[in-house]
Amino acid sequence: MYNIYLDASATTPPHIDVINKINDIQSECWGNPSSIHKVGVIAREILERSRLSIANKLKAPSDEIFFTSGATESNYLALKGVSNNLDKGRIVISSVEHPSINLIANQLTKDGWNIKYWPVDSNGVIDLNLLEQMISPPTKMVSVIWGQSEIGTIQPINYIGRECKKRNVLFHTDATQVLPSGLIDWSNLNVDMLSASAHKLQGPKGIGLLILRKGIKDLLMNNPSYGFKKGSIRSGTESVPLIAAFSTAIDLLNDYIDVKDTRTLFPENNVSKLTSLLKENLVKSKQLTFIGPNQERLPNNLSFLCHTESMIPIKGREIVRLLSKQGVYLSSGSACSSSNQGPNPVLGAINIDKPLQESGLRITIGPWISKDDIYSVSNIIYESLKSLELKKQLLSNEE
Ligand code: PMP
Repeated sequence: MYNIYLDASATTPPHIDVINKINDIQSECWGNPSSIHKVGVIAREILERSRLSIANKLKAPSDEIFFTSGATESNYLALKGVSNNLDKGRIVISSVEHPSINLIANQLTKDGWNIKYWPVDSNGVIDLNLLEQMISPPTKMVSVIWGQSEIGTIQPINYIGRECKKRNVLFHTDATQVLPSGLIDWSNLNVDMLSASAHKLQGPKGIGLLILRKGIKDLLMNNPSYGFKKGSIRSGTESVPLIAAFSTAIDLLNDYIDVKDTRTLFPENNVSKLTSLLKENLVKSKQLTFIGPNQERLPNNLSFLCHTESMIPIKGREIVRLLSKQGVYLSSGSACSSSNQGPNPVLGAINIDKPLQESGLRITIGPWISKDDIYSVSNIIYESLKSLELKKQLLSNEE
């Protein structure tokens, strides 16, 4: 049986260097970094060295780098934590956000904020004609996902961020799916708050990143009920092994993303080439309709709708289970929402017909995938779709 993992946007296999780093730190430098004795000081040194190393790689001042438990918490702190200390008004989010942002938005509505969803076109790109309307008063904060995890869309975050800055509107972006495809140059970004997560780039689970421009940290530290530690936006003992291993995972990235005003250009590498090869193979199938942008998209992401040749929807969950039995692992949407049955809000936002909204299939690859894997997967997906087509024909004959 095969064992081909094509669900990098859900999580990735930790790199061997990451596993070794966790083992080393866990067994040798397990001190509490707040202790003032030698054991604690060693742990603190490792933590601060890791922070500095990440800061250098991302071209950010190290005092703008904060560790969280993952991108969900980073998103929460950026939106809920910061807005708690602002006068109420409007917060704008895109209509293709990760479920973690949508949940926070629901809470913010209950808190008395006016939440506005920025519409997108059929490729999932936000409508820049609405920019003035979206970011003018009473808008206080805007949050737009940089790389959409389900349909691969890239948003013009540097342009939106620049316009927000001119109007004194805070701008947050969820870069969780972007960082695995290339290093970010923070010094060149018009972004106030950025979320990312280690386990999407072969790092460990349970550790994330929130990068905050100077001054924003103070807004978060204003919340006295959370028991903040001195200089930190978060309470509790820091996980030095996870932080050090996160730094190892970021060290494995070499090339920078080139961020233009409205475009994000990713470095070409083996992963992007293999993704293109798989796309070439799969678009030939009459049972798959490619969705999201054709060109400018997350370079490791392919998304499709599955159906019979006569366009009868096939549920994404059905094909995911069938492929799993053959050792091929992919997903029918964001892992955080794919356990929920029913229409998919991201597919709804790009105007996919309701009957097809449960037919999404997402393939996201990483450096562990080989060319042979791509050929095998193409055949298995073809055969599986054919068998489902046959099953549907037999069922309709019986009816
Ligand atoms: N944002 C995006 C875009 C994601 O893809 C994910 C993970 N599915 C998250 C946030 C949540 O990340 P974490 O698992 O680190 O909380």
